[in-house]
Amino acid sequence: MSKKLAGKVALVTGGSRGIGAAIAEHLARDGADVAISYSASPDKAGAVVRKLEGNGVRAAALKADQADPAAVEGLVEAVVKRFGRLDILVNNAGVFVMGQLGDPAADLAALQREQAVNVGGVVAAVRAAVKHLGEGGRVITIGSVLGTRVPFLGIAGYAATKAAVAAYTKGWARDLGPKKITVNTVQPGPIDTDLNPDSGDFAAVQKSLTALGRYGRPEEVAAAVAFLASPAASYITGAILDVDGGFNA
Ligand code: NDP
Repeated sequence: MSKKLAGKVALVTGGSRGIGAAIAEHLARDGADVAISYSASPDKAGAVVRKLEGNGVRAAALKADQADPAAVEGLVEAVVKRFGRLDILVNNAGVFVMGQLGDPAADLAALQREQAVNVGGVVAAVRAAVKHLGEGGRVITIGSVLGTRVPFLGIAGYAATKAAVAAYTKGWARDLGPKKITVNTVQPGPIDTDLNPDSGDFAAVQKSLTALGRYGRPEEVAAAVAFLASPAASYITGAILDVDGGFNA
């Protein structure tokens, strides 16, 4: 039986760890050739590539700082050059800055870098990708439940970046609908990764806000992304899908 993404090429930004690595692995299991990007973890990215290749697909890891629009454009072009096409763009790479107004941990430079990665990098990737995406193309961005609801102190900057990508998703769904390209955002709740480990007081508070009373696993986000990437999701665009254990219920 042929796999549902056979013949497709996917790019997952920030695929060296966490949610991005799980997404890359799911798409490869579904038959797509998968490129991942990273900024600082070549060894981890290399290990993910070997796992992806174990599914009999082509895979590559490319270094590109999402805060640098020229690097992101170069990343997209390099993927197309290497694999001959691009069908699925998953904007996953992201950073999290925590700190209330006036906190030096969230000074202007930190907040601007967060915006550059979480929003600027997504905009640059989509602008470069639309030159190559054809009918049936997919743009899927990893937002956050915090783009919809802001229940903690010290996350205003992060929440603003994730609200921005949700708004872009709706606008781009309109822009790209005539080209038969779908654009959606998946908003994870608390997921156990390096960015948000399931340990300590903050984790306990996050769990208490979910209906299911637990953290999610990267694979649980990847399953939703793989569905949106599949032919079965052909009539879903402009959607914001929470994968959050009921955090936003
Ligand atoms: P991790 O910190 O575990 O992994 C982040 C990934 O992004 C790594 O592959 C990292 O590469 C890459 N990355 C970070 N900065 C850059 C950059 N400047 N340029 C290129 N790549 C970069 O994070 P998660 O897996 O938890 O998060 C993935 C996405 O999910 C993010 O957008 C995050 O905001 C979102 N999210 C996460 C939640 C959670 O609870 N974990 C909840 C809601 C949303 P490298 O290894 O090279 O550093």
